[in-house]
Amino acid sequence: MLAARYYGIGDVRVEEVPRPVCGRGEVLIKVAYAGICGSDLHIYRKGMFVTKVPETMGHEFSGVVEEVGTDVSGLVPGDSVVGDPRVTCGNCEWCRQGLGHLCPELGFIGEVSPGCFGEYLLMRPECLLKIPKFMALQKAALVEPLAVALHIVTRAKLTPPVRLGVVGAGPIGLITVLVARAAGISQVAVVDLSPDRCELAKRLGADLVMESFPDDFSSQVDVVIEAVGVEKTLQGSVKWLRPGGRLVMAGLYEDKICFDPNDIVVKELEVVGVNAYETADLHKAINHLASDSIDVTPVVSHILPLASAAQAFSMLTASTKNSAKILLEPN
Ligand SMILES: [Zn+2]
Ligand SMILES: [Zn+2]
Repeated sequence: MLAARYYGIGDVRVEEVPRPVCGRGEVLIKVAYAGICGSDLHIYRKGMFVTKVPETMGHEFSGVVEEVGTDVSGLVPGDSVVGDPRVTCGNCEWCRQGLGHLCPELGFIGEVSPGCFGEYLLMRPECLLKIPKFMALQKAALVEPLAVALHIVTRAKLTPPVRLGVVGAGPIGLITVLVARAAGISQVAVVDLSPDRCELAKRLGADLVMESFPDDFSSQVDVVIEAVGVEKTLQGSVKWLRPGGRLVMAGLYEDKICFDPNDIVVKELEVVGVNAYETADLHKAINHLASDSIDVTPVVSHILPLASAAQAFSMLTASTKNSAKILLEPN
């Protein structure tokens, strides 16, 4: 089968690999759509997270069960599924409380084990979530990033009338705008360098979009969700907040940064970190998509064959960003 494998920084190759064999307690999935995530770009640009090379990348997918191994119950061939791609130790104090996203050994498929950028994927049944047959698989591929945004908004503790600032209109920033709007937040301002992405944020419900941070006092916001993870956007986020505001840090950093912590101290800011999601967020994401209460499809800018994976990575890491979420279609 074809798979997109990471070989090193800037080096993703689509090549023939053996199709995985479904063993006892495993499920073989035929991948329908697989999304390229910001964390895949951290791998591509910096070699973060991956534990061996080459590795089949990818952790966001929808697909159909092709085969179930012995000792698997609850799933049959033909079922539509999405995955919980978190790989955890399963027995630390956080895993035992169902808080796998806080497991000190947290990794993801596509980083610490083969991922979904291939025609087929093996998963354990407890890491699969069945989705309704009527749900389009293209939409279902966005369950995982929607779960991230739901977790961000929960951690941000947004209660109207809050003035919300979202920094970064990549897929996570954009889906966060959708989730905030669905939660009844009407004042949502977005900052992104890319005019195309600003335009998209506006279409998705942001009431104000800006290509740089405002510097006047009257434009300050109560909560900032930082979904980029670079020095300038963190510094800008802190300046954008009103005294006593809340900084929600949802972006992962590729580099060490220079930052003045006094900016947090003097404004008495509350700082909240966000990492991935809880299992419940995945279920909530499925329910939102099944009931059409949140429509994530405008976030998808391109659907490309798996064979074009290397081209998709170049598009997403280009300096001019006219793509948002790219889905790969392996079959
Ligand atoms: Zn993701
Ligand atoms: Zn653990």
